[in-house]
Amino acid sequence: TCGICVQKCPFDAIEIRNLPAELSDDPVHRYGENAFALYGLPLPEPGRVTGILGPNGIGKSTAVHALAGELVPNLGDHAADADWDRVLDRYRGTELQNYLKRLIAGDVTVSRKPQYVDRIPDQFSGRTRELLERTDERGDLDRIVDRLGIDPVMEQPIESISGGELQRVAIAAALAREADFYFLDEITPYLDISQRMTVARLIKELAEDENRSMLVVEHDLAILDLLTDSLHVAYGQPGAFGVITDPKSVRNGINEYLKGYLENENMRIRPSRIEFEEHAPRTSSTGNPLVDYPDLYKSYGEGEFELTVEGGTVYESEVLGIVGPNGIGKSTLAKLFAGRLEPDEGDLDFRLDIAYKPQYVEIDQPMRVDAFLSSITDDFGTSFWNTEVAQPLQLERIMEQNLTDLSGGERQRVAIAACLSEEADLYLLDEPSAHLDVDQRVQATTAIRRYAENHDATVMVIDHDIYMIDLLSDRLMVFDGEPAVRGHASRPQEMRAGMNDFLSDLEVTFRRDERTSRPRINKPGSQKDRQQKRDGEYYYA
Ligand code: ADP
Ligand code: ADP
Ligand code: MG
Repeated sequence: TCGICVQKCPFDAIEIRNLPAELSDDPVHRYGENAFALYGLPLPEPGRVTGILGPNGIGKSTAVHALAGELVPNLGDHAADADWDRVLDRYRGTELQNYLKRLIAGDVTVSRKPQYVDRIPDQFSGRTRELLERTDERGDLDRIVDRLGIDPVMEQPIESISGGELQRVAIAAALAREADFYFLDEITPYLDISQRMTVARLIKELAEDENRSMLVVEHDLAILDLLTDSLHVAYGQPGAFGVITDPKSVRNGINEYLKGYLENENMRIRPSRIEFEEHAPRTSSTGNPLVDYPDLYKSYGEGEFELTVEGGTVYESEVLGIVGPNGIGKSTLAKLFAGRLEPDEGDLDFRLDIAYKPQYVEIDQPMRVDAFLSSITDDFGTSFWNTEVAQPLQLERIMEQNLTDLSGGERQRVAIAACLSEEADLYLLDEPSAHLDVDQRVQATTAIRRYAENHDATVMVIDHDIYMIDLLSDRLMVFDGEPAVRGHASRPQEMRAGMNDFLSDLEVTFRRDERTSRPRINKPGSQKDRQQKRDGEYYYA
């Protein structure tokens, strides 16, 4: 493995499809006869943050290998000898040719943040400080450490720090290096919204102030929107072929992606469009209460984290979004509702059947996916279950695998499916977007929403992906407090009031895209940002 594609190359599992007729040109690179082929390359530009929006397994790392000079593109002829001149010829007269010339001359150096930070402790043992000091090539480490809030874990062994800390350490390590071209393969996993914003702002500043090129792969659309100056959409058949489009404006790239149709390319990449609606709530608070719960208090012990919950009502057939920073008690609340923890004060003995997907997915029986799911529901395999659950969660291709062999994203999808397949009064999903790429997220969101609507199901969803929360939720529960010390959960509120509450703490404002109604983060300090802050309208302007 090379540090980027630490993921398993699914060679023997791929299914080669015929390429769309539009792709009659030779690819940039093909790994072998009937093997993965990449079409198109992104263009790193000094002083700019370039985004790639697309699923995993679509050739992003392959493209970066080429842009880093570690792989000489074979232009589809996998038997040919490596030859940069042919490549330069192909890109004659383009900006990419200028970049490649500098690369071949040895003028380009690359720094990378690997996708799977969980694997860093396997490759490095030592303290955070030791890891980071090795990367301090620009003398900028202290500032980066400070900005990303890494100070508290500087003296801790790398194997003992949490996922969110590891993510920020990995980002700091990549950014502290002296390079022309920085490749950041996902920046938001394990981070809460405030941490995501901080990372995004730091990357943007480094690009602008130091004229660095940043290429970022990201599945959180709100962050991609805030962070990037232009966007390549990547589409195709993961594992078989991938196409990286020419750069688009960020707004068009995201809008076209959500629409499922790329205009310049005249290409449909998804059968249906993703719709954002300015929330006309599906049910109003005049619906029937599913449960009234009292004020609650839970502490993990003397001097440990404590949570207070304002009593409230969950209504039948509503989707209640739950947002707040890491370590503030969201999962603790989910466990209280699911009956896995007992509150110290307040009584939660409602007789409800609850289907619960915990944050850290606990499926590790030695059992096949199909056997596991058919043990949960009699609907397994019916056409309605296939359409509503299996298809949008892309389960067909992993049905015959063992639960123990699944990747993080695969486990997540099986766990969401298992949760939705139960007969329950209340569905509780703790961070369903974790480990999912953007396609899977968009489809999982649609699946959860459609399920809730078709079954009049009541759902509570904890997540850090604002788009997912916006698309799903009818109302919102907001957490605040001091992470790891004390948390407070508000009574469920209307979306607008809840988002206002949440975002004013973060000092972030959102507007709605005029064309698609999707939420977009306002540029900090822009006229809209200042106006909305004055009006106290942090969310729906
Ligand atoms: P992404 O970064 O978008 O997840 P990659 O560029 O890592 O995608 O991989 C795209 C596909 O290329 C993989 O699904 C795999 O089938 C194939 N692939 C990756 N690396 C190699 C390699 N070294 N040799 C042959 N095939 C590879
Ligand atoms: P969130 O889901 O909002 O990230 P959690 O509810 O998981 O937060 O955790 C809140 C705080 O409680 C964290 O500081 C966490 O370390 C602490 N915590 C969680 N479970 C336990 C436990 N079993 N014993 C002691 N502390 C715990
Ligand atoms: Mg949690």
